[in-house]
Amino acid sequence: MEAGPTMLTGEIKDQIRARTDIVDLVSTNVTLRKAGRRFVGLCPFHSERTPSFTVDRDRGLFHCFGCGAGGDVFDFYMRTHNVTFPEAAEQLAKRAGIEIETTPGERRRSTETETLFRALDAAARFYEGNLAHPETGRTARAYLEQRGVDGATMSRFRIGYAPDGWDHLLRALRGRGHADALLERAGVVVPRANGGHYDAFRHRVIFPILDLQNRPIAFGGRVLRDEDTPKYLNSRENPVFHKGRTLYGLNWAREAIRKRGRAVVVEGYMDLLACHQLGIEEAVATLGTALTEEQMALLRRFSAAAIFVFDADEAGRRAAERALPIAESAGLQARAVTLPDESDPDTFLRARGRDAFERALEGAQPLFSFGLALAMRRHAGTTPEEKIRIVDEVLPLIATVRHEVARAEYLTQLSQRLAIHEDVLRAQLRAVERTRSDSGPGATRSREVSGHAVRSVARRGAGGRYAAERQLLMRMIDEPADRARMAHDLLAADFAETAHRDLFGRLSQPDAELNRIRESVSSETRDLLERLIFEERPAVVDIDGCIARIRDEQRKEKLRELVARIDEAQRAGDADAVRALQSEIQRVSSAGGQAAGTTPVS
Ligand SMILES: [Zn+2]
Repeated sequence: MEAGPTMLTGEIKDQIRARTDIVDLVSTNVTLRKAGRRFVGLCPFHSERTPSFTVDRDRGLFHCFGCGAGGDVFDFYMRTHNVTFPEAAEQLAKRAGIEIETTPGERRRSTETETLFRALDAAARFYEGNLAHPETGRTARAYLEQRGVDGATMSRFRIGYAPDGWDHLLRALRGRGHADALLERAGVVVPRANGGHYDAFRHRVIFPILDLQNRPIAFGGRVLRDEDTPKYLNSRENPVFHKGRTLYGLNWAREAIRKRGRAVVVEGYMDLLACHQLGIEEAVATLGTALTEEQMALLRRFSAAAIFVFDADEAGRRAAERALPIAESAGLQARAVTLPDESDPDTFLRARGRDAFERALEGAQPLFSFGLALAMRRHAGTTPEEKIRIVDEVLPLIATVRHEVARAEYLTQLSQRLAIHEDVLRAQLRAVERTRSDSGPGATRSREVSGHAVRSVARRGAGGRYAAERQLLMRMIDEPADRARMAHDLLAADFAETAHRDLFGRLSQPDAELNRIRESVSSETRDLLERLIFEERPAVVDIDGCIARIRDEQRKEKLRELVARIDEAQRAGDADAVRALQSEIQRVSSAGGQAAGTTPVS
């Protein structure tokens, strides 16, 4: 994920792929047995009893039907060894006996990164040394002890102290040969307006943020007295620290996340320390930044499930709303919980202990139900006015979710809870979407969810448009010879799902090559491609039938839209518009009749 020292050419990647037998590689971690032309075994990325982890030797790909994990030899190596892409490439190249040549530019970048890591590590040691110092660290240690942080936790998490003063760190690290400019890039010193530098953190407890290889990449600093501001100060971004791609504590939590099959997502440093100290070792913290897709994708590498601990207030509701579409698009089964009495994990754990916290986690609800419950709690939901307010709050939330099945389920839940007919809610949802699709951040892209949800769609909608689109795409994947014909008969715009559209566009290119497509598309499209490669296909694909199904759905959609417009025109008393729309409806329905007559009805 990080920009690494080695930028590989496509050619070298292909060489590594060609020389690495994915079955051999996977077999070092997973016992595989042959099943048809594929190999199956127990997934190393989630715990299961019946094998859903599948390897396709010819295509060099793996896929898990249980948790949605998938990819090529690089992905497998990265996930099983917790390394970045450049590191995986280097090690796989060595394994395959391939030399990777680096250019002078790459060597320079690599040295720059190394010196930056060294400076960050020196800063972390400096802070740690100060906390341990009997005199200098006394107040900070007393503060941490009073907050319940024990000595073992302090050293495990490499907690430190930035002394009071303007240049303690600057002088100490300069003395060890670190240039001022480098320390500035590391974010531990700040330039003065009139030249020179001063320490970025002063009289603060320091929490180093470590990457997955346990190297410090940034720091968070907390004041010792609550009345001082800002309470928390985080280093700004640097070449090895990107806030949106980092979760505090993941380096310590990842093994527990994998073992327990879930991550617990809390907000702050102190919450995380309390969790780990009391045995909730699968906790990570977001550090108050808005949750990003990259953070969720990162978690997804270790587990398919996450429990978010939110505040029981307005901010918590907004956080849940933001998290829902992001977690869904990353394929995470996300649940949310609030702690009683408005407490945060830190205060709750210290007051009531681990068992009570575990029980609270057991009560976590799926994100959508959680948002709905919060809205219901605010507006009792018995009078029509209250129901309207709930609908107004919850529908925009549903509108951000693009997955058909999830949306349908959410609408059903909302309909049941409020005793409002689903059709009414659906119509209202379309209105919300119309206003959102015009502009603004609500104009979310269509998304795919990996894993179970998608497979259930495939089953449920066996005769539907969704399935038809997927069958056509599978055919294009399997039979390159048919691609040109389908590209001639269909447009990308004919596909309802964004990822379908994107993949169709890529497969329609002459000499489209699956590995190249995988590498150049968004993560949603890549997930889709991998799933379609592995999913079971019908024995016979009726291409014409699938196209007819798509056309039929398009026609129905058009009719629904025209009916809605007639409604509006009638209410507005516009007789001309009503007549025009009626003849349009006639035209569209009769066109459909003809089409139905010429294609076999399935
Ligand atoms: Zn799996």
